[in-house]
Amino acid sequence: MELKEFKTQFDQDEYIFREGDNGDCAYIIESGIVEVSVQKDDRKLVIATLGQGDLIGEMAIIDELPRTATARALEATRLIAIPHDYIHQKVECSDPAVRFFLQIVLERYRDIHARLMHVFEGVVTPGEAEYQELYATTTNVVKNLMTQYLELQDRILSAVNTAGDEDEARGHDDQTAWHAKEMLESERALTNALTNGEFQLQYQPIVDLKAQKIVGCEALVRWQHPQQGTILPAEFIAQAENIGLIVELGYWIVREACRFQRRLSQAGGEALFVAINLSGRQFDDSELISKLETIMREEQVSPELIKYEITETLLMATPQLANEFLHKIKATGAKLAIDDFGTGYSSFSYLHQFPFDTLKIDRTFISTMIPNRKSQQIVKSLVHLSHDLNMDVVAEGIETSFEEELLLELGAEYGQGFHYARPLDADAFIEHLETA
Ligand code: C2E
Ligand code: CA
Ligand code: CA
Repeated sequence: MELKEFKTQFDQDEYIFREGDNGDCAYIIESGIVEVSVQKDDRKLVIATLGQGDLIGEMAIIDELPRTATARALEATRLIAIPHDYIHQKVECSDPAVRFFLQIVLERYRDIHARLMHVFEGVVTPGEAEYQELYATTTNVVKNLMTQYLELQDRILSAVNTAGDEDEARGHDDQTAWHAKEMLESERALTNALTNGEFQLQYQPIVDLKAQKIVGCEALVRWQHPQQGTILPAEFIAQAENIGLIVELGYWIVREACRFQRRLSQAGGEALFVAINLSGRQFDDSELISKLETIMREEQVSPELIKYEITETLLMATPQLANEFLHKIKATGAKLAIDDFGTGYSSFSYLHQFPFDTLKIDRTFISTMIPNRKSQQIVKSLVHLSHDLNMDVVAEGIETSFEEELLLELGAEYGQGFHYARPLDADAFIEHLETA
């Protein structure tokens, strides 16, 4: 069975399939543009617009149920059809490439799910009766999708497990299959971690270098894995971004960090800010600003004591869009910091356009500052630049008192690093405040 037998062509506006049709194949878009939508009464919601190399109709080859969406060619479009039997046959032959294919299918599935939630949440305004009904329907659709998805994942995992055993029996070292299996398993664990309450925030003090006192902290997420123990963000944030989980996890982080800020305020003493990292993918959520506002209000924190950290790399990926978001975040009253400065495209010339309050100098410059005069020069100019643009400076990753002294000389106001404290859990941070 070869794929090229199944090439098909569609004219502009022609339907490739409709919601409710029987589906026995998926399609790869060879050329053209396809709109995928769902319909409710007279409302059409476009859930994806896909082009060359994208996959559509993949659900049909997984669950063999009627189509859950409508696909229409927006221009003359050529597709390669992938019949259900083809995939099935290949899975049974335990071809690792096909397992990867399925993995991509799963990611798309989750993406669609996330978009569905997002779009329908967008149209629901509390109190509008007809939208409430729409919302209930959507929620059910999404729930069903999730149940199917989890069942499907079980089936794939057991298929891959069996294939793995067979490979072993045949004496094949099938690395690819195991890799695919591990990825699926870890994605699943990550998805469940949020519902199981396995994420935790730690807080690392940010210190006024001159006054030698704590002025705030940065919230850093950890995954307390039931078997593997503490997992650092470097090992799961990228994956959480890939599977879209970062949006939901991000809101959890903001709420948790706001609660901590409130706890700090109630403990008395001087007001301390809490800095929260935002990742690029969170900016895809059009509700981001209103949700940040809602969370800060519900948790009763003063927005000026929350500082959102955005990396330079994220900023420079889409400067204009990022700038819009930044101004909206500023309008909520919260503060903004540019994170890991100096590691990205070094956006010096753009910097003045963005409404940052703080520039965080990446620790790579701080740790090489003593032996390397070039780093020292860079730090010096970054401090000057920041001050010229009315920003204060946080030097990251201070590990020694030599670095601290040098930074003071170079004019940096604030510092963060193991020299002061490692990231601490909430109770330990409060204890540290009392003893520091
Ligand atoms: P980052 O924002 O640059 O965070 C600072 C990282 O430097 C933290 O690592 C912290 O533990 C580490 N660090 C602090 N002081 C020192 C020091 O003196 N020496 C050394 N060697 N390291 C130091 P962590 O917690 O592993 O976080 C790594 C990155 O993960 C963060 O880098 C940030 O980009 C991301 N991240 C952490 N928490 C979150 C979060 O809640 N949301 C998002 N989106 N990303 C997060
Ligand atoms: Ca940060
Ligand atoms: Ca940083």
